[in-house]
Amino acid sequence: MHRFAALIWVLAASMLLVAGASAEAPPSGQLPDTAVPLAYTLRLNVDPRAERFSGRVEIRVKLTTALDHLWLHSSDLAIADVRVRDALGKLHAATLVVRDPSGVAKVSFDGTLRAQEIELIIDYSAAFSAKLQGLYKVKVGDDAYVVTQMEATSARYAFPSFDEPRFKTPFRVTLTVPKEEVAVANTQPIEEVPAADGKWKTLTFAVTKPLPTYLVAVAVGPWDVVQGPILAPNTVRKEPIPLRGIGPRGTGPQFKWILDQTPMIVKYYEEYTQQPYPFDKLDLLGAPDFSAGAMENAGLIVFRDALLRIDASSPSSTYRSAFNVTAHEVAHQWFGDLVTVPWWNDIWLNEAFATWAQGKATVELEPSYAGDLARVEGTLGAMRGDSLLSARRIRQPITNFGDIQLAFDGITYQKGAAVLRMFEEWVGEDSFRAAIREYLAQHAYGSGSADDLIATIAKVTGKGQALSAAMHSLLDQPGIPEVHAALSCKSGPATIALSQSRFLPYGVVAPEKRLWSLPVCVRFDRHDAGSTQCFLLDRPTREFAVDGGCADAYLPNANASGYYRFTVPDADRKALSEAIHSLTPPEQLIYADAVSSSLIAGQSATADVLDAMPAFATAPTQEVATALFDSFAWIREYVGTETTRAAMDAYAADLYSARAMALGLHRLPSDTDAITQLRVRLIEFLAFTAHDAAIRRALVEQGRLALGLGGGNAVDLSRVDPDLRGAELKAAVQDSGEPAFKAVLAELAVNHQTKQRYELLAALGSTHDASLGEQARNYGITPAVAVGELRYLYQSNATEPENSEAFWQWLKAHFDAITARLPDQYQSSFIRNAAINRCSKPEAEELRGWFVPRIAGIIGGERVLAQSLETINQCAALREHVGVSSLAAWVDAHPAH
Ligand SMILES: [Zn+2]
Repeated sequence: MHRFAALIWVLAASMLLVAGASAEAPPSGQLPDTAVPLAYTLRLNVDPRAERFSGRVEIRVKLTTALDHLWLHSSDLAIADVRVRDALGKLHAATLVVRDPSGVAKVSFDGTLRAQEIELIIDYSAAFSAKLQGLYKVKVGDDAYVVTQMEATSARYAFPSFDEPRFKTPFRVTLTVPKEEVAVANTQPIEEVPAADGKWKTLTFAVTKPLPTYLVAVAVGPWDVVQGPILAPNTVRKEPIPLRGIGPRGTGPQFKWILDQTPMIVKYYEEYTQQPYPFDKLDLLGAPDFSAGAMENAGLIVFRDALLRIDASSPSSTYRSAFNVTAHEVAHQWFGDLVTVPWWNDIWLNEAFATWAQGKATVELEPSYAGDLARVEGTLGAMRGDSLLSARRIRQPITNFGDIQLAFDGITYQKGAAVLRMFEEWVGEDSFRAAIREYLAQHAYGSGSADDLIATIAKVTGKGQALSAAMHSLLDQPGIPEVHAALSCKSGPATIALSQSRFLPYGVVAPEKRLWSLPVCVRFDRHDAGSTQCFLLDRPTREFAVDGGCADAYLPNANASGYYRFTVPDADRKALSEAIHSLTPPEQLIYADAVSSSLIAGQSATADVLDAMPAFATAPTQEVATALFDSFAWIREYVGTETTRAAMDAYAADLYSARAMALGLHRLPSDTDAITQLRVRLIEFLAFTAHDAAIRRALVEQGRLALGLGGGNAVDLSRVDPDLRGAELKAAVQDSGEPAFKAVLAELAVNHQTKQRYELLAALGSTHDASLGEQARNYGITPAVAVGELRYLYQSNATEPENSEAFWQWLKAHFDAITARLPDQYQSSFIRNAAINRCSKPEAEELRGWFVPRIAGIIGGERVLAQSLETINQCAALREHVGVSSLAAWVDAHPAH
């Protein structure tokens, strides 16, 4: 649909050129300020069984100057009629013409209107989107549902609008739907009127608080609606708030668990912010197909239903994700919904805040989910992307439509959250909270930018200009700072020398030098007692006095709260490695990162990483015990030979097999969530990375049991452990070939448990068989696989090194067909899939050669291609630098047995 619209625009533009018209070019960034929306009335006629919907939008608009036209957004809408009612009530004819493929549209009046408030009235209709954006339709069996997804820029597919976050206005929404359907919106219904024909009903919903277009939501269909516990009044809020779970027909009972968790999450944020929950009700809706994980629409949060549907068949990881994602989306009701960013360059304020707040809520409310470790893992994940020269900044200028679609990445979420956390640690938790409270109170129901936030924190904490400069240095430039620390105790009082540079992977030369202003907190260990001292490294090099004198060991990132990497001299690193057990688990993760990033920078040998593994292998926490698995996998895949791989696999078995076997293949009732996560990580690593034959056989056997192979039974996924079910299905498909593949396909035709479907699709994609692999890939372009499910099938297919070439050949032949199914925000995602498992310059050139001529037609494609090529080239440079012979001496010392 989008491509078709783009073609029309090109033709229209060239016709204008031929005619020599000097028409005003459509605005490419923000709309002009000369027409400002004040309020919307939106009437939608929605029958989920139909193919199209219709609507009328009335927008009260303030013209700040005399105009004969204005600009707004409208994409793929068939406009039936446009009128303008002026301030005196007189109606004027008008036209709406889309002038840009991103949906920028010109509304022309029949003459010039003076500055005044007008009403713009537009009647239109459109097909329901098949791409999970705007107003879209999903079928489950014989049922049909309509759901919305507006962020970032898809409200324009649902109604003509000023589709920018800075325009916050009240919305009055009215839905006319078949009388048997359930219809919900952002607020509670205030009126329901049956139609005279007995077939339809019209619901009018309470006028919303001021909202940007991207937070407007409706849903229509045969939904199950279940009441949750009421959100009881407390010291911050006087009124009770109703809480409901909404899911596809028959799934209502599965929402009980998350509904029971939600009141304490809401209460946590109310206490933290001292602002009552801002809306008149809270619905958690599980959509049967959804593009992202969830969306924080005011009062009507929409999730992919797999996240919220919980029953006896759910893996323990689903409980953890449901909690985390709900904590994230509920946090947005304050951070994003109550106070909204004016423009997409500050979208980090929404996402970093929600990510940071979610981590705090989880640590406080459900410590067993190890929110502190998840935070560090998130930060280290963001660093992978931030080590590219083509990385975005947290606060990235937005100059075109593609920039908006790419703004929702690890830099915005995890790096942004890490920077907030770094400054929270520096100014102190209480002081930071006071600043956040003031910021929210100042901007409630309005907008707030990074400059507003930084000014408030600087003022409230008393840190002034130093804080402002430090925050800007992290927000406004990309890259990972690296702190070089050296403790000196030789002459006089102890001092620590700190210097900074940009962390760069091996072979990368940065075009310019960077200077950050960094709060650096150092943990000093002296005779089993630890202390922390913080410094502000605001110059390339500084030396500081150390309180308490010399230390036995020191970690230049205390509490894992800094967004930077570090180095220390060799002798100090050795002392640190000996003190590893006195560090907290988050600090141990930071130390593990120092080990693996030293390899990435080309400064240590592969053997150093392998030799560091035993220190982590026995750690009680899953995250620490498995911290070097990715480095192990990289070494094995890219510099391993048959001999070295056998030795590495034997080494991994020595370190982890006994522990994995003791945990077993089945969750015990007494197992904590942390034990379950550890079991899954160890078994998957041994079976799929380190090729442990015994564990693999055990998984295949369970997978065959679930699929009813060998025993003449039907498929029954409840026969196996829910946590390992995905791994077992994958092992069975890989090792049992066609019978397992066919059983999975047959099950997919009848199974509507979304979480299980993801596991089945990932298993299908993981096959190493050439002909089955082709069948799996072709299956994904049929309607049997929902749009939100595509990633499970194709990422699993592309991730298997055995499939890389076949996947690439297939992708080239089907790129247009697969991309046509994807929402604007994910148009570029298959470029990343094509880059998986590639680690040589010729492969990078092959991708470049194929994508460059097509890149202009792929939304956000240019930056994603640059990042993908850079990732491949970094891998290739390191691989060449390390060399396959680097493990020879290590293998001699660790022979396979
Ligand atoms: Zn979010």
